[in-house]
Amino acid sequence: AMTFAGKTVAVFGLGGSGVAAAQSLVAGGADVAVWDDGVAAREAAAASGFKVVDLSSADWTTFAALILAPGVPLTHPEPHWTVVKAREAGVEVIGDVELFCRARAMVAPKSAFIAITGTNGKSTTTALIAHLLRELGFDTQMGGNIGKAILTLEPPAQDRVYVVEMSSYQIDLTPSVHPSVGVLLNVTPDHLDRHGTIEHYASVKERLVSAADAAVVAIDDKWTGQVAARLEDSGRLYPITVGRGAVLVPRLYAIGSSLFVHEKSGSYATSEEVVQLDGIPSLRGAHNVQNALAALGALRALQELADRGEVELTVNGVPHRIWDIERIAQALKSFPGLAHRMEQVGQTDQVLFINDSKATNADSTDKALASFQGDIYWIAGGRAKSGGITSLAPHFGRIRRAYLIGEAEDAFAQTLEGQVDYVRCGSLEAAVTAAAHDAGLERGCETVVLFSPACASFDQFRNFEERGDAFRRIVEMLPGVSKSRG
Ligand code: ADP
Repeated sequence: AMTFAGKTVAVFGLGGSGVAAAQSLVAGGADVAVWDDGVAAREAAAASGFKVVDLSSADWTTFAALILAPGVPLTHPEPHWTVVKAREAGVEVIGDVELFCRARAMVAPKSAFIAITGTNGKSTTTALIAHLLRELGFDTQMGGNIGKAILTLEPPAQDRVYVVEMSSYQIDLTPSVHPSVGVLLNVTPDHLDRHGTIEHYASVKERLVSAADAAVVAIDDKWTGQVAARLEDSGRLYPITVGRGAVLVPRLYAIGSSLFVHEKSGSYATSEEVVQLDGIPSLRGAHNVQNALAALGALRALQELADRGEVELTVNGVPHRIWDIERIAQALKSFPGLAHRMEQVGQTDQVLFINDSKATNADSTDKALASFQGDIYWIAGGRAKSGGITSLAPHFGRIRRAYLIGEAEDAFAQTLEGQVDYVRCGSLEAAVTAAAHDAGLERGCETVVLFSPACASFDQFRNFEERGDAFRRIVEMLPGVSKSRG
């Protein structure tokens, strides 16, 4: 942010990341003008001493940059076209991560910086990498699209490792992103509202890994496979795969829940099983195999960058080894997982209660249903998405009974009719009580009450977090249930 000392900079969008950007720019000696479409955000900014300026009528020739919150569309806001006008005037439009990248390049260019992107699994992978690094003893700063805004973290320093989740929006606003390790998990059609075509959406994500010193790319879908193919000759590619017929030779791969590292030196190639994910509840499910591979790939890549002197990995100024597979395997076991994503919130002798409130569409619920062997008592519903739950039919045979809630009750009942036993419950509380009662009568192994709604939460809750918290509270009040995490 020092680069803007003495210059005038606009900050548009005053959520956590915007306010932090404004603060750091002021601290760096810039003259900062802030704006937000929301009156409350503007008033709060004015109250904390920021200069609030209506950017829709700004004279852009006086500004050096426009710092945009990732949620603000590039064509926003009609009819003023603030961002468009700024661009036309030649003002650079960047995000908070760009400010971080410039600061790091000046202060600690050889510090470790891992950036994670993909359509799904970003938060889990980011949290997992951060957890492993902390357990390995590193001063680990985690943020970006997950948790804290990046400019609220401790500032860049040689001893600090940054683990940053980046959405496509954030990559778009970070022209000089140059991570030590870029991680690309998957690219599936989503968020095409802003990025137009999937080709463009994929190319934004590709930029993150092609700009990185080392690229960890999961080659399990068409788009990421193409990205990897383009990076193959760079010598910086770490392909990983969950093993659906890879074209490239992977550096890390999985067979079931066993993770392997593939080594090639000269004409010798060896594969070694390094980690077994079975029995780690926070990494349950096939999708987490990909996330765990990505995390291991990132650590492996960092170690090799350190071995070549491209990155300096230090703890209290002393070089520190990262690829210590015994310690990594141990650390995986203590990963607490993320709230609301297949989170174990309670258990009795026979029944597990799983909070998957983050599953706001059928795709996510598909992964949840696929993650359990035993009988599933499934709580679903809310505000339905187009397509409903018809795509979940392959799992219907394992659902003992479905407990329907919210606006989707009618539509879901229609889909389940004649295939799955269901009850309409209306509220989440009624559904949990009924499901717990039914599951308690079961004497099977791994009986699960799974709350994976396949719906948005807005009909009955403010957001999926509030919905998941409600589920947890209801579960914890059931007789005989003990709390559990991970
Ligand atoms: P993101 O931060 O990209 O939204 P999360 O880590 O929060 O991803 O996971 C959200 C949901 O996406 C999970 O509940 C799961 O259903 C699904 N998911 C997680 N990891 C993957 C993956 N590697 N591939 C596909 N789907 C995944």
